[in-house]
Amino acid sequence: MSAATRAVILGLVCAGAASAALAQMTARLRTFDSELVVDASPNTPQLASFGYPGQPLWKNRTSEVLIPFVEISRTQVPCNWTFNTAASHADGNRVVFVYESSNPHLRLSWEWRTREAYGPLEHYIRIENLDTRELWIPMQDSLAFDWQIDPREPLQQLFVEKGANTPSAAGTHEVSFENGLHWIGTSSTYGDIKESDSREIIPWTLIEKKDSARGGWYAGIEFSGRTRIALAREGNSLKGALGLDPDPAPFRTRLAPGEAFDSPVVFLGGFRDGPDAAGNTLRRWVRAVLGNPDTWKNPNYPLVVNNSWGGGMEVNEQIALRMIRDSAELGVDMFHVDAGWFRDVGDWYPNPQKFPHGLAVIADDAHKHGLKFGLWVDWTQAGLSTEHGALNARDPKVRDWMVTDVPADWKPEPFKGQTIDLGVPAARQWAGQEVERIVTDYHLDMLEHDGYLVAHGCARTDHPHAAPDPLNQCVYKTWGAYFVDSSNSTDVSYHAVQAYYDIYSQMRKKHPGLFLEVCNDGGRMVDFGSAAHGDYFSITDTYDPLSNRRAFFDTSHVLPAAMLESYVEKWPTPRIENFRYMLRSGMMGWLTIMTDTNAWSAEQHAEAKKEIDLYKKELRAFIRDASLYHVSPRPDGVHWDGIEYWDAERKRGVVFAFRGNGEEKTHAFLLQGLVPSAHYSVQFYDHSGTDRQISGEDLMHDGLGVTLDVANSSELIFIQQSK
Ligand SMILES: [Zn+2]
Repeated sequence: MSAATRAVILGLVCAGAASAALAQMTARLRTFDSELVVDASPNTPQLASFGYPGQPLWKNRTSEVLIPFVEISRTQVPCNWTFNTAASHADGNRVVFVYESSNPHLRLSWEWRTREAYGPLEHYIRIENLDTRELWIPMQDSLAFDWQIDPREPLQQLFVEKGANTPSAAGTHEVSFENGLHWIGTSSTYGDIKESDSREIIPWTLIEKKDSARGGWYAGIEFSGRTRIALAREGNSLKGALGLDPDPAPFRTRLAPGEAFDSPVVFLGGFRDGPDAAGNTLRRWVRAVLGNPDTWKNPNYPLVVNNSWGGGMEVNEQIALRMIRDSAELGVDMFHVDAGWFRDVGDWYPNPQKFPHGLAVIADDAHKHGLKFGLWVDWTQAGLSTEHGALNARDPKVRDWMVTDVPADWKPEPFKGQTIDLGVPAARQWAGQEVERIVTDYHLDMLEHDGYLVAHGCARTDHPHAAPDPLNQCVYKTWGAYFVDSSNSTDVSYHAVQAYYDIYSQMRKKHPGLFLEVCNDGGRMVDFGSAAHGDYFSITDTYDPLSNRRAFFDTSHVLPAAMLESYVEKWPTPRIENFRYMLRSGMMGWLTIMTDTNAWSAEQHAEAKKEIDLYKKELRAFIRDASLYHVSPRPDGVHWDGIEYWDAERKRGVVFAFRGNGEEKTHAFLLQGLVPSAHYSVQFYDHSGTDRQISGEDLMHDGLGVTLDVANSSELIFIQQSK
């Protein structure tokens, strides 16, 4: 930790050694771009102020609201929170204020910490049951505040949707946050499970002051369960709350004696110079703090992948071996077998008709060809197979793991079954062993999880989560499976997500270097909790060039580009320019090709090989390490759009330029991050323009002009600062 991070205990006021209850404490934590002051009052802690160093601070008008009661045997027992000075702690990286309640006997730790010398600060609350009785606790937000604001101050909010299913027409929302506006953004692992559901957000939002500094704050949630962020502006108040989703109410969760509730970890960061500057800090922080060091150590991360889904469920040994040969010829890094390889849903053994020699021989063949080997698995789904080792939804030993009994006429879909509740200890143990078996027996370098990993809600009354309210419970069928909506949905997700994290943490310990892809039906589990437990995300479930670019545009506001996977599917490409446009629409982050490459023409094949080579030699380094700027409006398929990467250390960058199907043949991209007085050599990779020298001033104010004659085409423009 560098000298930029400090905590200073500003004051420690004790009314006397014997009356620690009256003690108060104030402390400060700081990183390069975020600083806060926290106070411990006798009965409640408070985030007093927060901001970007040197900018006006955001002053908080309220203390944290701690749970006012617990339930014991269905009776509310009030908590009497008292500050415990001796148990509290403040140092350069961490402040913990401890509050205790004597009867019921509870300990609450209210913690802030720095994780890096730059970037946001993390916060969470832990409530431990020190009582001898089982307790039920109500909703405890991770963080709530009430900033004092100038009623006339213009504020702008930014939030981004998940690319779940298909990116919507909006995706990235920039909203003038006016007086009277109340906003709630929610996240779960489901996205639009019902048509009436609103779009889910990546659990993060940003508020920017519309002045010359373009500063403000952003906050996000490191958890994949049901969470929400709420903001409300009224007069001189901007209230915010982040944490588990309290809707449907009432939330309650069980704490046996000795157990603890951990609120989802949230982070709060300051910034100036607008959202891309905030994003460039946050992406670097996510990589350093949440990312897997073993993954980032691999110089080939992000990988280029060839995936078998271009042929759908038809994959077999012959197809796989042919694809491996072609993958090696194309120069990709990994061969990825998608759905279709298994005996049945829940029966995760190779189909003997398709893979008579098993899967390990396929993996070994990939390895012989210098490729890594990845596999799709829907490992929380049960089916009806009666083979040994299969998870059968009707097996009396495991039937209770399903969120509800499935009717007699139920059948799984070809690659989707009934989700088990991972929060049940026996289910979690089975799943952990099954994932371990799959990774070991099939010689995997990568495991992709799909389907719905986390139960939506649960009708069972004998699981660790709260029982559902039988009068307010809805069981319905969608996508061939049964889902439950009830007041316990948030608590169900709280337990199941912790089990998922636990299983993947174990996998990482046992298999360093194993890649974990978070798919979950395409872009529905994109959040900072899964960023801490997986290595890359499928960011949408729609794979045409426009959807891929839209999902990338949205998601890249908050997550490292290397973690953002686009699947490139078959798309009409009458001209080679269209073919490059199709490939490059998935080449700004992690590239997975999902089309039958053996069906490409010789010209397309040669072109793809050249593009993959370029990705590995030039583009990958930018995707890993460079700053990223959104240098156009969000892609609409008609107008031009583009992304700029700029690596300030190497003084080198690239602009991905895309022309839509509109009439406009020429476009100027206003670049960012350059030095106005410096000169830059500009090189058009496809030779659509003449290579030349341009000043930083011109590139940032007049723009980088690009001309493309063909609709749905692209260009890559490399930029090098002259010495
Ligand atoms: Zn359950």
